[in-house]
Amino acid sequence: MPRPGLRTRSKRRVYRRTPGGRVVIHYRKRRPGPARCALCGRPLNGVPRLVPSMLRKLAKTEKRPERPFGGYLCPQCLRKQLKEAIRSTISL
Ligand SMILES: [Zn+2]
Repeated sequence: MPRPGLRTRSKRRVYRRTPGGRVVIHYRKRRPGPARCALCGRPLNGVPRLVPSMLRKLAKTEKRPERPFGGYLCPQCLRKQLKEAIRSTISL
């Protein structure tokens, strides 16, 4: 029986075989859900969601799309927002 703090399904169970051939359970944090667009709430592609220790191993360019508002807005919303911004600055 694991200790009380680990008797929960909010932890991920990882089965590991030890050098002695025993199978033991390691408890890991669950990965967070997908990053979502700030406007429409659609899940964002190209944004890895890992535990922070794994995220540190990635390069900055691997953590979000390299464009303005990458990792914050989805491409459709960005396009819409840019067009709207231009429309509001140019008065004909
Ligand atoms: Zn969006």
